[in-house]
Amino acid sequence: MAKIKMSVPLVEMDGDEMTRVIWQQIKDILIKPYVELNTEYYDLGLVHREETKDAVTTESALAIKKYGVGVKCATITPNAQRVEEYNLSSMWKSPNGTIRAILDGTVFRAPILVKGIQPYVPGWTSPITMARHAYGDIYRDVEGKVAKGGKATLVIEDENGRREIEIFDFSKSGGIVLGMHNTEKSISSFARCCFNYALDVKQDVWFATKDTISKTYDHTFKDIFAEIYENEYKEKFEKAGIEYFYTLIDDAVARVMRSHGGFIWACKNYDGDVMSDMVATAYGSLAMMTSVLVSPDGNYEYEAAHGTVTRHYYKYLKGEETSTNPVATIFAWSGALRKRGELDGNAELVEFANKLEKATISTIESGYMTGDLVSLFKSDVPAVKLNTEEFIRKIASNL
Ligand code: NAP
Ligand code: MG
Repeated sequence: MAKIKMSVPLVEMDGDEMTRVIWQQIKDILIKPYVELNTEYYDLGLVHREETKDAVTTESALAIKKYGVGVKCATITPNAQRVEEYNLSSMWKSPNGTIRAILDGTVFRAPILVKGIQPYVPGWTSPITMARHAYGDIYRDVEGKVAKGGKATLVIEDENGRREIEIFDFSKSGGIVLGMHNTEKSISSFARCCFNYALDVKQDVWFATKDTISKTYDHTFKDIFAEIYENEYKEKFEKAGIEYFYTLIDDAVARVMRSHGGFIWACKNYDGDVMSDMVATAYGSLAMMTSVLVSPDGNYEYEAAHGTVTRHYYKYLKGEETSTNPVATIFAWSGALRKRGELDGNAELVEFANKLEKATISTIESGYMTGDLVSLFKSDVPAVKLNTEEFIRKIASNL
């Protein structure tokens, strides 16, 4: 069989630990035998981020802006322990944070549903797609400590002049402060991304903030969504038979638990970070979720929603067998290859991506899976636990 050609490169961002090992296996066993893989490679592994003083992260994001599609492996976000472990010259920022700050946009995450794996929440019979705002709030904040006796003030200077708002008088105790921001432009594009995606998949959009407490910050999110919906989307939604629903974040959480799924849950950045892990886990496993960042100017970055699976990696380094689930990383590759194929009019590449996903799902449905899924699997066929490479090879034989 002739290999499928790619006319435009895919931006490939390699990563860390267990997912870096899986990354190579997926390329070697599942992709390269069929596709003449054309990528522009960026090594976002922590060792190379340190070597380049993190410039590689910015370069990779700019490459996505140039080519339109990227695929990213999970990466370590350094903390104090990692600074020591990797002998870092600085506690480099989260690569995802840096990339999202450059591309802007919204992260859509949806569970990969497989026959035989029941969600932990029995009522969730349809997927809940999480739409996470990928810009600003605490991910772009500034923070500081204030000594006892100090005072913190918020100063705003704009065309309306200068205002000073006292944050807190720390006369009785030292403490902490943080300042964060968002922009009307980013919130507007978040709203449009969600409404467009909803029209695409014909699903309702739910959105929630804490506007009763945060009467300017969160309320602005609510107002911008409402205005864009009324002016640009209401008619289209009515025609498509779908709804936009706004409520308070705590009410939303309660309603989501009681729902049957089948809608898009638009979340502010932090809510989306936290809630998507909860939703993914409830559907079975963090490793059974797709994740794509869609930027307002039409760039796509595909990744897995989970991290570098450090606990498994340390076992792997000791020579122990690991059964880490590669499905989310496979779907990051298939999603990126499919999008590349769509943009380039490459039908063979689209077809390959679809077949890769089908082979992955049918492998699990026929009873072959990694350890994390075994206890969740209820079917007529018995569940067979494979290690990561055996599982990938099983997918390859189905493919
Ligand atoms: P994690 O890598 O997602 O792993 C947490 C636990 O979830 C694992 O120990 C494992 O549970 C389970 N798990 C996650 N993915 C799995 C998979 N594919 N197959 C099987 N089990 C899976 O999160 P973490 O341990 O908190 O973070 C590790 C590193 O990843 C950190 O350095 C963090 O900065 C980074 N991180 C990166 C990203 C990203 O790049 N997008 C996102 C999150 C975290 P058991 O141990 O019980 O088997
Ligand atoms: Mg998270």
